[in-house]
Amino acid sequence: MKKKVGFIGWRGMVGSVLLKRMLEEKDFSYIKSIFFSTSQIGEKNPKFSNFFFPGFLKDAYNIEELKKLDIIITCQGSLYTQKVFPILRSSGWSGYWIDAASDLRMHKDSLIVLDPINSVNIKKAINNGIKTFVGGNCTVSLMMLALGGLFRQNLIEWVTFSTYQAASGAGSEYIKELLKQINFLNQYLSQKSTFSQSILKIEKNITSIIKNSNFPKKNFLIPLILNLIPWIDSSMLNGQSKEEWKMEAETNKILSKTNKKRILIDGTCVRVGSLRCHSQSFVIKLKKDINLSEVEKILENDNQWVQVIPNNKESSLQKLTPLSVTGTLNIPIGRLRKLSLGSKYLSAFTIGDQLLWGAAEPLRRMLKFLI
Ligand code: NAP
Repeated sequence: MKKKVGFIGWRGMVGSVLLKRMLEEKDFSYIKSIFFSTSQIGEKNPKFSNFFFPGFLKDAYNIEELKKLDIIITCQGSLYTQKVFPILRSSGWSGYWIDAASDLRMHKDSLIVLDPINSVNIKKAINNGIKTFVGGNCTVSLMMLALGGLFRQNLIEWVTFSTYQAASGAGSEYIKELLKQINFLNQYLSQKSTFSQSILKIEKNITSIIKNSNFPKKNFLIPLILNLIPWIDSSMLNGQSKEEWKMEAETNKILSKTNKKRILIDGTCVRVGSLRCHSQSFVIKLKKDINLSEVEKILENDNQWVQVIPNNKESSLQKLTPLSVTGTLNIPIGRLRKLSLGSKYLSAFTIGDQLLWGAAEPLRRMLKFLI
């Protein structure tokens, strides 16, 4: 009999990418799909140009309805998980919970899923009766796929990173706000006289428009366009942002590294105005001196999505930008070179679609493990 799978949060950024991928891979033919909403209960189920799901949206807070499901996939976010998961579990529900939000990632009874890296652990967890599977933080999953070969061969002593994370990483309302910011600015830029002004006058006017108190910034809190935001998520007590903290914590959990063998990973996470795809720059200290062509082979041979981009300007501009990666499962890694710091110090730059490998794809593949 087909498993009953409930979809929560399917309307958001991650959820809609998940549905799109599942349609592409014809995953819906293996399951009985039931759709929920927190805000549109009773409205029609999702509809696509070539596919529609008959029926109406159920209430995502109705525990009795949720209890009927074999598997729940939620892309709704932390508040939903915090509210519903404990009540559902304490009601005796023992189905599988697959989640995009971060809340349950570090729980002892949950596994962070990224099957090209930890499929063995996923299979073990299913056999051991684990019922809660959570997608990793987007930058963590993208870093691990890019550097998979070096992690797998235990060649990394430490990594420090700087991220350049897209606006869509914050969710639907944020991406709309970025577009509203563009629109606001355009009112000045679209005036005929603007470009006949001196360049310093244009720069001054734009700065004053962006600093205007009416500039749309309810969600990001400050303007993102023509600016950047060097803080993502909440604050930890040690000065890290929570996004930065996740890099070491989640990576070591995915790799099942015990305290003594932990890989040290730290750096700075930054929100930038790109639309989609997270980019990351790394300085990696290798455990031993391996020549660059060997490093490239190790990286490229690890999984089918990673691709080494030659370290030259033309290739970097063509293949190592958010625009060249958006909407694909590709994980290009380039700017590979040994740093002048010494022969064990490697620099790298990678990009991945944070909505695909960074969020929806590991969840979709987890569902396949269960069905
Ligand atoms: P989102 O776009 O804000 O969507 C979450 C929910 O918000 C939707 O399911 C929908 O629920 C509601 N919503 C409110 N306004 C909406 C609008 N204008 N358009 C669509 N939906 C709207 O959030 P998300 O980015 O998908 O993130 C979901 C979870 O995944 C979060 O925990 C996030 O941290 C995590 N995550 C996100 C990313 C990413 O790149 N965005 C990457 C990795 C993990 P109802 O239909 O019930 O109203």
